[in-house]
Amino acid sequence: MAQIPKLSETTPDDYARLGMKSGLEIHQQLATRKKLFCRCPVVRPYVEEYDAEILRHMRPTLSELGEYDGTALMEFKTKKEIIYQIRNETVCTYEMDDTPPFELNQEALDIALEVTMLLGCNLVSEVHIARKQYLDGSIPTGFQRTTILGVDGSIPYKDRRIGIRQLGLEEDACREVSDVGHLRTYRTDRLGFALIESVTYPDMRTPQEVAEVAQILRWLARSTGKMHTGIGAGRQDVNVSIEGGRRVEIKGVSRIRAIPLLVHNEAFRQAALLEIKAELERRGITAASFRADVSNVTELVAGTQYYPIAKALRDKLEARAVVLRGFRGILTWRTQPETTFAKEISDRVRVIACLTRLPNIAHSDQEGETLSSTEWTRIKKATRAGDTDTVVLVWGDRRDVETGAGEIALRAREAIEGVPNETRQALPDGTNGFERILPGPDRMYPDTDLPPLAVTEERIERIRATMAERPWDRAARYEGLGLSRETAGLMSRAPERFLFDRLAGAKAYPPRAIAGLLLGRARHLRRRGALPRFDDERFAETVAAAAAAKAPVEALLALVEKTCGAEGLEPAAAIAALDIKQPARAKKEIAAFLEKIERPAIERAKLERHVMGLVMEKFRGALPGKTIAEIVSAFAG
Ligand SMILES: [Zn+2]
Repeated sequence: MAQIPKLSETTPDDYARLGMKSGLEIHQQLATRKKLFCRCPVVRPYVEEYDAEILRHMRPTLSELGEYDGTALMEFKTKKEIIYQIRNETVCTYEMDDTPPFELNQEALDIALEVTMLLGCNLVSEVHIARKQYLDGSIPTGFQRTTILGVDGSIPYKDRRIGIRQLGLEEDACREVSDVGHLRTYRTDRLGFALIESVTYPDMRTPQEVAEVAQILRWLARSTGKMHTGIGAGRQDVNVSIEGGRRVEIKGVSRIRAIPLLVHNEAFRQAALLEIKAELERRGITAASFRADVSNVTELVAGTQYYPIAKALRDKLEARAVVLRGFRGILTWRTQPETTFAKEISDRVRVIACLTRLPNIAHSDQEGETLSSTEWTRIKKATRAGDTDTVVLVWGDRRDVETGAGEIALRAREAIEGVPNETRQALPDGTNGFERILPGPDRMYPDTDLPPLAVTEERIERIRATMAERPWDRAARYEGLGLSRETAGLMSRAPERFLFDRLAGAKAYPPRAIAGLLLGRARHLRRRGALPRFDDERFAETVAAAAAAKAPVEALLALVEKTCGAEGLEPAAAIAALDIKQPARAKKEIAAFLEKIERPAIERAKLERHVMGLVMEKFRGALPGKTIAEIVSAFAG
């Protein structure tokens, strides 16, 4: 593919032609007080200080792993050392040492069951805890405790429904701080937080649909009012496949806004990999005829001026050449924007051979400066590389360079199959990079530490009785109260929705005006820090007092500024201070005020602004702003 089309220029028909399908796994942290399986506190936002570091060697031997899958083999090859940074306050021996778990956190179970019901899933009758294998070190014990609470739900979307495969309740893993060379560092505070995972069927057909459904699912869980929000509290895994490709998961997407471009680029990456597959077929390269020859070329490149290799040799590292027979031009094939197939290979070398300093490979088809042509000629001759071959160089210490050379050959061979079975990581520019070989299906096994727990009818009824209203039901109800569709939608998922319900229920002021105040000026002032004493109770009391004093709706904002602002007046005092007036009286007083003011000789527009300022200073809230403007305009004219 010469160029990857732009997201903005791609239509739903284009994705349909690719046969694109996409699904989501939405992870959200529950706002519980304690972690899921121990009594450690849930502390958010995260604290960056820590008390101690623990070093672990992650060196599974293949014999220990028994029937090992791709992930296990990969972690075996990487030979990582892991550092855990711990704060005594947020971690105990359960998370770090695999001492037995406490009973499942009942608060977390209730919240997760509520979300399961909101998704319309069939609930399990018993909670069975399973262990899911984690070999990357992000969970010190090597497994995550997890359980499925319901299956086969759905949510409405446009004119159809999106299927929900399941809802899971599980422990959060560590936060990765860095991953350089053979050393990976994690912070453990988040470890063990209760996390729900909502999994959809691959029912989305365009990148925009994926983002929209992700948003709906996040809002749905948040409608309980029991989810953490903010950085890292919600993360998505997005899976994408196209016809002839393979389901590839892009992990840990934290911003929903990033989803469309990631999905788009992955769809076209798979399309590019399928084109490469077809090209290799055309060239007659098959799994049986594939050849990659590795040789030690350390001495051949000894005098090179090419900095990355020259530096490596100064550091006593070695270089290998891998000749990919018949691969001429494949490595410069564009797979993502600004990205070629060479990046697929470089990623594997970086992640699996831990050669993290970039560039970590150079190849003979590469444009731009690498080795001199004389040096390439020398290497090609020594390795018997012909005109149809590509030579890939890699450098590093002896062990890593051997692993790296092996990975180059492995990834090139996988090009024959098309799209490899791997998970990808989201990159900030909307492209994605290799993360790990996809685990085999047998990563789950039963946990014997905890007995099954029955989900009783009583429990379900108790949760159902106070279950959150789904955002779309709430929005429809708000439209019925006279809110515009847009405002109803906004209010249905706004944190102010409970306060709005209370005020609208009191029927003192039109719901439309209350919604406008809460989502407009009041929110604006709060964001600016101008309403430090704002809480639902105080706001509601202010509105109730205003209603009792028959204050006009326009006075509400000024009153709230008095009661919830720095002054913090009691509602009655605020009403007295503002001298709330009835409209007729207010008009009379403004007229009297205007008679007394000076009238500077300035042009009309300026005069109007000047007078408006004077009047608002004294009469803000007494009448609608629009009415005051009309009076001032009449005065100025
Ligand atoms: Zn703990």
